Amino acid sequence: LQGAVVISMDPEIKDLAAGDVLIEGSTIKAVGRDLSAAAGDGQAVRIEMGGMILIPGLVDGHRHCWQNQFRRLIVDADLPSYMATTHGGIALHYRPEDMYAGDLVTMLGAIDSGVTSILDFSHNTRTPAHSDAVFKAYGEAGIRAVHASAPPNAGAWAEHWPEDLTRLRDRFTSALTSVRLAIDFRRPRPASELIKFAREQGLSITFDGVLGPASSREMEELGRDGLLGPDVTVIHATDMADVVWQHFKDAAIGVTLAPTSDEQIGLSGGTPPIQKALDFGIRPSLSVDVEISLATDMFSQMRCVLATQRMQSAALRYRGETPPTWVTNRDVLEFATIQGARHIGLGQKVGSLAPGKEADIVAIRAEDVNNLPLNNAIGTVVQGADTKNVDIVWIAGELKKWRGTILGVDLDRVRSLAEQSRDYLAAKCGWELDVFGLQRRPETQYDEVHGYLEQRQKA
Ligand SMILES: [Zn+2]
Repeated sequence: LQGAVVISMDPEIKDLAAGDVLIEGSTIKAVGRDLSAAAGDGQAVRIEMGGMILIPGLVDGHRHCWQNQFRRLIVDADLPSYMATTHGGIALHYRPEDMYAGDLVTMLGAIDSGVTSILDFSHNTRTPAHSDAVFKAYGEAGIRAVHASAPPNAGAWAEHWPEDLTRLRDRFTSALTSVRLAIDFRRPRPASELIKFAREQGLSITFDGVLGPASSREMEELGRDGLLGPDVTVIHATDMADVVWQHFKDAAIGVTLAPTSDEQIGLSGGTPPIQKALDFGIRPSLSVDVEISLATDMFSQMRCVLATQRMQSAALRYRGETPPTWVTNRDVLEFATIQGARHIGLGQKVGSLAPGKEADIVAIRAEDVNNLPLNNAIGTVVQGADTKNVDIVWIAGELKKWRGTILGVDLDRVRSLAEQSRDYLAAKCGWELDVFGLQRRPETQYDEVHGYLEQRQKA
């Protein structure tokens, strides 16, 4: 790739105003000012990259991919309503093919928006076949997927978890796919035992729903018992006590923020703890969480967390207190690339453009009408770019998007799969849907999930 603006996110290579990237097979062979000599053996395909910015593929630290045949259905939902609609509603009726349909549309949308690695927090694995179905979607999309498996939060299930994780690990671990143990609200056994199980199996651990005082007390206990470590990532981390943040720092765990879900859906205090993380010397990662209520892309996450931190800082200054330093556009790009890679267990493989890393690369058109002329490459990526400017996407050296078009996908087939699955599930729930969303739903079906939520709050 010749003559691009390169933002490597690598501390040695840094940025190049006009740089080349040499890909060999699935990996990056070299990044430098002029690699004509290195590529001069007549074997290299040269791609002219004038007017393009190259960045490492974006990393989504957590998304619930199974839900996304219902994208944007409930954009005004709060947390109880979200829980009731998903875990207490559609989730109960999912068949393996519905898991597949939801995951497939998610993965294609992710690639389209420049996300090359994603942690799929799959908390509707009612049977082993439900898990197997999402791996089919990963394979078809060709995305780098971290499968974080958790039981469904409500309703009947095969009670095969966590034991089935060893089968998933042995069957599906590959160059593009890895497996983690995911912990959410429903716990067949205490978190301490689940952590022990995961470590015995060589699996890393991701906690979702880390929010509010009950979670804070649990994390404090896990920290005090020495059970937190660099193989643990927590998502949200809203409303944690300072003693918990100190445990997070001491144990070198990963903290993945979900800025838009905290703010729009109203999780715990409703504020992503960006400043708290920075105060404790923790560099967070970012995540999309739920497309049923939120935007699909990581540009939204970068802008949201930047705006939130600056708003908080400015409010302190206005009140005459000492404001913290503003996060920069480069900071949030770091959160969405290399920090994300670290927190989903792929820090050695992806997250920056450097020799030896996998060739997960995104080319952004810097001279589209919304970005020209190019005055600041970092600003163009974080503030200017959108999915439409994501021109080319490589994952492990394979072209997945070329000149603005996703490759190898029959969109008519994908749309009809998603619509059929959505209509089946909505009918099972007794919902009335139209193009303006969910018009009517029975109230009785949500008792069970509210039970879980109450139990959780008391805990
Ligand atoms: Zn989540």
